[in-house]
Amino acid sequence: MECELVPSVCSYCGTGCGVLFEVIDKELAGTLPMKTHPVNEGKLCIKGWNLHEHINSPLRLKQPLVRSFGRFLKTGWDEAIAIAARRFREIIDQYGPESVGVLVSAKITNEENYLAMKLARAVLGTNSVDHCARL
Ligand code: SF4
Repeated sequence: MECELVPSVCSYCGTGCGVLFEVIDKELAGTLPMKTHPVNEGKLCIKGWNLHEHINSPLRLKQPLVRSFGRFLKTGWDEAIAIAARRFREIIDQYGPESVGVLVSAKITNEENYLAMKLARAVLGTNSVDHCARL
């Protein structure tokens, strides 16, 4: 059996705890807290302890879904983005820019959150931007 510990950072929130991924025979098997990491000093919350589980989950979304007649259908990124852009345009034209909003995530970087805010304010024309930490 081949066992390896791969250092990484928890992606569940902005705290940025250090973790060690347990990789056994090239399969991700577990998550351990990194004792030498200055942020968490060997501690993890329950989300961090289970960080590895979503990576191999069969429920994980790996491509966009489009709702059609009440069912979710897999599609490509180009088509999903085109549909979202068209629907934003239709809603904004009919109800105004404050009728739409953007929800961002703790699982993306500060820079990506900043870009989402710019998309909301400069492109869509709305100040309705929020973050999952407040939901
Ligand atoms: S272990 Fe918990 S507190 Fe630390 S980064 Fe992950 S979610 Fe945040």
